[in-house]
Order: sequence, then C-alpha cells, then structure tokens
Amino acid sequence: MLLTPHILTGVLIASKTSNPILGLFLVLLSHYFLDCFPQWEYSIKNIKGRRWNKSFLDFLKVFFDISFGVLLILFLSKNNSLVFAAAFLAILPDGFTLLNLIIPKNKLLEIHDTFHQKINYFFENKKIPAFWGIVSQIAVIALAIFFL
Ligand SMILES: [Zn+2]
Repeated sequence: MLLTPHILTGVLIASKTSNPILGLFLVLLSHYFLDCFPQWEYSIKNIKGRRWNKSFLDFLKVFFDISFGVLLILFLSKNNSLVFAAAFLAILPDGFTLLNLIIPKNKLLEIHDTFHQKINYFFENKKIPAFWGIVSQIAVIALAIFFL
C-alpha cells in the first residue's frame, strides 16, 4: 500500500485511541492489516533491485508519498508528538523492508521482510484487477480524512 494511506490511518487510530501506548501498538498493526488488501503501488524496481545509482526517481516517489501524507496530517490533525509518532510507526514496516535491502543478511530484517511480503502479496494470486488496488487506497484515504 502507498505510504499516505498508512500515515493517515495511523494518525486516525492514534488520535481516536484513549491509551496512547495501545494506540501506537494498533498503529503498527494497522500497517500489516492494510497491506492485506488488494493494492496498487508505484514502481520502485531500482530500489528493490538494489540499483542505488539508478534509484533517485524511486526515492523521489517515496519522498513525495511521505510528504503528501505528512502535509495532510498537518492540515487535518492536532499536530502533537503522538501524531508524528503514529505517522512514523505507520510506515515503519516499509522502512524495515528498505533496511533489509540496504543491510543484507540481517536475520531479523529478513524474517520481517518474508512476513511482510507474504501479507503484501496475499491477493496477488487471486487476479484482482489493478482498479480495485487503486480504489482500496482511495477509500482508505477518504475514510481516514472523514474520521480525522
Ligand atoms: Zn507495507
């Protein structure tokens, strides 16, 4: 899933949960939950292929994705430290995946990446059209904005 829906969902969960520790834990779990759904993603094939000298545009896409999410929460949330902690935790699993590419042969990162990939490709074998992968993300963004 794109990073913006993860960020918005994380901030929504943290802002609606009365216990901040529980809220942040649920934010982390929300990442894996959202990754289960059919999703469309922009290509970051150079990052995934560890072709670092060709990956500037891939990192630029990631940067804009995160920036868009942060911009939305700046307008839609209370902008306290809990909100920013939630935004960080909401995308942390994808950060671990990136770290796994940068730091090869780290057992913990490899275990996480295997788990993360299985969740991400849950629907891949079920031939769900890309349309639903886009709709699911727009729906998540719209719902999060509505409830924030
Ligand atoms: Zn993910």
